[in-house]
Order: sequence, then C-alpha cells, then structure tokens
Amino acid sequence: MPAKSSAAEGLKELFIDELKDIIYAERALVKALPKMANNAFDAKLKSAIEEHVAVTERQVERLTQIFEILGESNRGKKCDAMEGLIKEGESILEDTEPGPVRDAGIISASQKIEHYEIASYGTLIAFAKILGEEEIAALLLETLEEEKDADNILTDAAYNSINLEAAEEDQAQ
Ligand code: FE
Ligand code: FE
Ligand code: ZN
Ligand code: FE
Repeated sequence: MPAKSSAAEGLKELFIDELKDIIYAERALVKALPKMANNAFDAKLKSAIEEHVAVTERQVERLTQIFEILGESNRGKKCDAMEGLIKEGESILEDTEPGPVRDAGIISASQKIEHYEIASYGTLIAFAKILGEEEIAALLLETLEEEKDADNILTDAAYNSINLEAAEEDQAQ
C-alpha cells in the first residue's frame, strides 16, 4: 500500500475518533449545563447558559448529520477531558455560595469548556478539509462560530455582570 493512502486512512480514522469524542462531550454538556445555569445568580449569565444548552442540542444534531454523511455510527467515545472540565465546574459549585463569586467561577469553568470545544472544532475542520470533506467542514464551522460566540458572551458577562462593587452595594442594603 502506498504511504500516502495509508496516511490518509489513518487520518480518516483519527477524524472519526475525534468526532466520537466531541459528540460524547456535547451530549455530556447538554446534561451538565442546566445545573450551571440553575446555579448562576446573575440573570443574564443564567439566560446565556440556558441559551447555550439549546445551541448545544443543535450541535449534537449537526454531529449526528455528519456521522450520517460518513456512514458511521454516532455512538460517542468517552471524552476524559470534558468529564474533567465538568467535574471542575461542579467542584466550584460545591466550594462557593450563590452570588457574584460563584458566578465568576461558573464563567471560568464555562470558558475552559468553550476553549476546549474551540480547539476541538478547529482541529476537526482542518482534518475535514485535508480529507476533502467540504460539506462536513462547513457544518463544523457553523458549530465553531457558535462556540466562539458563547465564549465572547461569557467574557462580556465576566466584565459587565459580575461586578463586585455592585455586589458589595447590594450587601450593604
Ligand atoms: Fe458545543
Ligand atoms: Fe475530547
Ligand atoms: Zn476526550
Ligand atoms: Fe459550547
């Protein structure tokens, strides 16, 4: 077998493996994000996370569509990284009281999650392009843009809503 085609086969296998990893991660987030939203004190942060749950559900559907295009099973493969990031988020909830500090922790955990997703989809898009899977690359790009939007919304929330001075004023009242 020529070296080039075996490398291409290897990359295709890795691509499918990483798709299985990210669909597992997205499904885990559909389950985990509502708890983060319920624990958010700031109304804007809460609704931003709730909205991202709906976006994440559509991302799972988009990945399902990609597996259909590839003719592969959409069964996930445990993503240890996402399991760990979700656990970190849960331990922040255990270690904090409801309020601006917990919100800051929720934003921190959520941004680590979004950055993991951004890295994953960026790589998947590159793999799809190398493999000549343009339709799949376009679908993955839609998700990548959603993850970037979520990250930006969280950054805004961190600077605008999690205002420690305002929180101190609230406590003084
Ligand atoms: Fe996602
Ligand atoms: Fe992963
Ligand atoms: Zn993983
Ligand atoms: Fe996300």
